[in-house]
Order: sequence, then structure tokens, then C-alpha cells
Amino acid sequence: MERVECVVVGAGVVGLAIARRLARAGREVIVLEAADAIGTGTSSRNSEVIHAGIYYPTGSLRARLCVTGRDALYQYCAEHGVEHRRLGKLIVATEDGQLARLDAIRAQAAANGVTDLYAIDAATARQWEPNLRTVGALVSPSTGIVDSHGLMLALLGDAEDSGAMLALLSPLERVHRETGGFVLEVGGAEPMRLGCATLVNAAGLGAWAVASGLEGFPAGHLPPRVLAKGNYYALGQGRSPFSRLVYPVPVDGGLGVHLTLDLAGQARFGPDVEWLADADAPVDYAVDPARADAFYDSVRAYWPGLPDGALVPAYSGVRPKLSGPGQPQRDFVIQGHETHGIPGLVNLFGIESPGLTSCLAIADAVAGLLDR
Ligand SMILES: Cc1cc2nc3c(=O)[nH]c(=O)nc-3n(C[C@H](O)[C@H](O)[C@H](O)COP(=O)(O)OP(=O)(O)OC[C@H]3O[C@@H](n4cnc5c(N)ncnc54)[C@H](O)[C@@H]3O)c2cc1C
Repeated sequence: MERVECVVVGAGVVGLAIARRLARAGREVIVLEAADAIGTGTSSRNSEVIHAGIYYPTGSLRARLCVTGRDALYQYCAEHGVEHRRLGKLIVATEDGQLARLDAIRAQAAANGVTDLYAIDAATARQWEPNLRTVGALVSPSTGIVDSHGLMLALLGDAEDSGAMLALLSPLERVHRETGGFVLEVGGAEPMRLGCATLVNAAGLGAWAVASGLEGFPAGHLPPRVLAKGNYYALGQGRSPFSRLVYPVPVDGGLGVHLTLDLAGQARFGPDVEWLADADAPVDYAVDPARADAFYDSVRAYWPGLPDGALVPAYSGVRPKLSGPGQPQRDFVIQGHETHGIPGLVNLFGIESPGLTSCLAIADAVAGLLDR
């Protein structure tokens, strides 16, 4: 049986950032990935927005890791030639009753250390974005977009330069405990057993299966697994009607059907929130064309000029959530030894948005837990 010091499960943006961080600290690292390529999970099914850190409860991991992660990510992208753009975003009130929400959002952002938001009136907003319908907006100058695949390739390259290895088509199936570490049963075409002292479970939607397949893992530390699909529609033809990201005020479970731009300037709308009733069923990423009507309604609230028939189903992603509809949103869960009592194990659960923005800060947090 081969042995390695540290195994990271999952080659999404979070697993790759952790592998890079640990390898650069001198640890010997193997990344196990079930799929045949990196980043085929949630990391390639999102809005690719670098979030400023506005909405999350003050002091939560999501708030703290987003703000530090955002700064680290801008710097990393600049230093490593990862395509990104600090476009800024508008959070728009579309009726007078929502103006108070903008004030609350601004106060929440300030409490999180995001102090660069400012309000603009409807006339200014329309001067900037003539297609916008709004009664007032907030500007977030530090929101941007990033090429998530380019980012993952850069993280992998860095990790490999520091000696980390990536094993594709290598699903982790079960974990046994042994003195001083773990024995991993890895499936795939050539099943193998692999020994390690440190195990980081960054398997995204698969994190629950990895933890429950770990011998002796205390069931009480397995959080609820709740999935909320987010569907996107694109503009079939024509240029983007806006040059900045445009967000409505947030809704239960998500940030509302917003407009984001990719780095080629194409507009996409989404994600909506579709709670998946059976969280154990295989994920179906197809976008149901019947959801288009709700998209037209949501988007026309801030872009009344959206022509009939302009939206085409694009793609979807699934949020690994820890709480359901109507419940308070749960924070990221990053569990080390002091939580579950198993030395050398770190589990990450519920790494939904802003996980992409926060990936470098999450990696620091994991390294900190392992260093303790
Ligand atoms: C609709 C949507 C929009 C979002 N928008 C944004 C945004 O704009 N900005 C932002 O900051 N964040 C956003 N996020 C959140 C962000 O995409 C995620 O937080 C991030 O991609 C999570 O990365 P990950 O590496 O944890 O998971 P993943 O990318 O899912 O990676 C997990 C990997 O583990 C592998 N795996 C699973 N089980 C096993 C196993 N047993 N053995 C081996 N490998 C395994 C999977 O194949 C997968 O490759 C969004 C999320 C969604 C769903």
C-alpha cells in the first residue's frame, strides 16, 4: 500500500486551493478526484463573480473568508495572469418599498468591513445604465468576475510546482482508521488502497458521502444535506444591455435572479432557487425550459426592455446547503479535530457561495486547523 502525508478529496476550486496551500507549506499532497478532469462540479457551474462580502452575517465564516478571500483572489489573479475584471455591481431597488432594504444591505456590508458601497439615485443609475429600471441603487465597486477555470488551472499548476499530485478518475469510496491516520479505499478502473496521516474532505456535494464512509465518524457531526439548484438563462442573441453586474435585492435562499457578464461580455441571468426535494437522487443539471416564465418576470422588474423569446436555457449548478427553505441560512462548516475528535481530518460542508471568492482564505483556514 502506498502512503502519502496528506490527501485532499475533490479537485474543485476549494480542493485545489487547499492542495496548493498545503503543498507550498512543504506537505506531501495527493488530490483525489472522481471525475476525469478538474473543476467539473460546482466550480464550473456558478456565476464566476468575485463577491465583495456584503450580505453575510457579521463574524460568520462566509463574511470573514469572503472579504479576505476576495482581496487575496484579486492579488492572485493579477500575479498569475488569471483573467478577471473588477466591473462593479449595482444592487437595484425596483420599487420604493425596497429602498429601506438597500440601507440595511449597506449597513450589513459596513459591519462586515465592506465600506466602499455607496448609493446612487435613479437618474444617475439610468445615466450609467440606460436600460435599467430602478428607483435607487447601491454601487459595489469591489465586485468583479473571474475566469474560474483559468483560476483552477493556476492553482493546480502552483500545487504541482510544489510537488502535489493529482489523481483523476479516483473516487474515494471508504476510509478506515489506523494508528496515526487513515487507509483510503479508492475505486475507479484500478482500485487501490492509500495510507495517509491527513485527510481533507473538500468533495463539495460529495462531502457527506465521504464523511459517512469514514469508519467511526460521529453521525452527530454530519450536518443536514439540503440541495438548491440554481438555473441560468442566457440572451440568445444581441449584446448585453448592461455593462455592470445588476442584482435585485436578495430573496430567500439566494441573491435573486441577477445579471452577470462573462469575460467575453455575454450576459447571463440567474441563478434562481429550485429546492431539490430528493437530495439523494442523482443531480439532473438540465435546465427546465418551463422556468423561463419566472425568469422573464424577475428580469423585467429591472430590465423592462427584455424582448419576448430572448432568453435561452443555459446551464445550472447545485448549492450544497445546510438549511432548507424559510430557515435561516447556515454558515460554511469547516470541521477539524476539535469538532469531531478525529486527528488529521478536516471536513468542509456547505461551501456554497461565496466559496469561489473565498477559496484562498478557506485554504488558509484549513491549513490553520491542521497546524494546531
Ligand atoms: C448556482 C451557483 C452560483 C454560484 N456563484 C458563485 C459566485 O458567483 N461566486 C462565488 O464566490 N461562489 C459562487 N458559488 C459557489 C462556488 O461555486 C462554490 O462554493 C465552489 O465552487 C465550491 O467548490 P468546491 O471545490 O467545494 O466544490 P466542487 O467544485 O463541487 O468540487 C468538488 C469535487 O469533489 C469531487 N468529488 C466528490 N466526491 C468525491 C469522491 N468521493 N472522491 C473523489 N472526488 C470526489 C467532485 O467530482 C468535484 O470535482 C456558486 C454556487 C452555485 C451552485
